[in-house]
Amino acid sequence: MYKKGRAWIELDMENLKHNIEEFRRVLPPYCALMPAVKANAYGHGAVPVAQALQNEGVDAFCVASAAEGIELRQSGIQGEILVLGYTHPAEFDDLIAYDLIQTVIDGNYAQEMQDDGRRFTVHVGIDTGMHRIGERWENIEEIVRIFRLPNLNVTGVFSHLCVSDGNSAQEQSYTIEQIHHFEYVIEELHRQGFHHFKCHLQGSYGILNYSECCFDYARAGIALYGIYSTKNDRTKASVDLKPVLSLKTRVESVKTLYHGEGAGYGLTYSADGNRKIAALSIGYADGVPRELSNCGYVLCNGKIAPVAGRICMDQMLVDVTEIETVEAGDEAVLIGKSGDLEIQAEEMAHWAGTISNEIVSRLGERLERVAEGE
Ligand SMILES: *Cc1c(COP(=O)(O)O)cnc(C)c1O
Repeated sequence: MYKKGRAWIELDMENLKHNIEEFRRVLPPYCALMPAVKANAYGHGAVPVAQALQNEGVDAFCVASAAEGIELRQSGIQGEILVLGYTHPAEFDDLIAYDLIQTVIDGNYAQEMQDDGRRFTVHVGIDTGMHRIGERWENIEEIVRIFRLPNLNVTGVFSHLCVSDGNSAQEQSYTIEQIHHFEYVIEELHRQGFHHFKCHLQGSYGILNYSECCFDYARAGIALYGIYSTKNDRTKASVDLKPVLSLKTRVESVKTLYHGEGAGYGLTYSADGNRKIAALSIGYADGVPRELSNCGYVLCNGKIAPVAGRICMDQMLVDVTEIETVEAGDEAVLIGKSGDLEIQAEEMAHWAGTISNEIVSRLGERLERVAEGE
């Protein structure tokens, strides 16, 4: 099968290696990377990304679900795999069979694991202020009770920062408070005689903005892929991150639309003068946001082509009037470089009114993942 036929993702693994080195430069030597490869490695492809990371010496990963952990194990990934989210008790078998570390969501969840009767390796989630998952940091007695449950082999505690990307004084002081709450929990655990567990708190922005408070692991996600959440993000640590992913498709056909003719569902595009329109073989089922309808751009043969009409499920139209040479079979670039131009995931996210994390993590199953040069 030809992998660059309809629509595909190209992965620049050299850029991934470069980003790993940049993170390792920022992190102190005692703090190891525990990359987030959840959501199919933010759309990049969990297996090729985790294998590349493993080859670079990464030996701890985090995923969102047990199924994601199983996929990694089945492709030969070793080391620690932490499931950051909920696993239903009916899937507890998988945690043992595939040697996955489960997050303890809260005290009730810990009790459910205890009552199962088997022994599980876990990291305890601590809620230091995001109020998503984790036992509340104030509930030290409950946290200690979790540590004492005989069926739980607690090898770590972690928390998550919710405004570490923010530069306002308020966001910074909230983050500092979260860090203090986390440190308080660790100190209390030490005081009560628990010493053999790993701690981790930072995601990408925690690392890049609060590199002075590192723990045993750092859970880098979006920035490891060389992408910021929004295009105006500034971080304290100065790092040179390079995007790993390009999103490309093919021109299926090119035709002339005559003045006043409409195009696409709802005929929301209308030709102002005679226009040259190209159909591309990618759509919202592949993860191109429908918000890009009549808004947003692609690159074709080193030039810009605006989106014409509504994004369809499997196809989309672009206006290529200004591009002299475009024909069926040509490449069109939605994210990445074409000639001297580049569209970054951050820009596409901006046009679609969202963050780049959502854009890339929704890139679909139908897209082939191809290593650069393949
Ligand atoms: C997704 C996630 C991360 C990674 O976050 P980024 O901002 O993408 O670096 C880290 N920790 C937890 C708990 C997460 O859910």
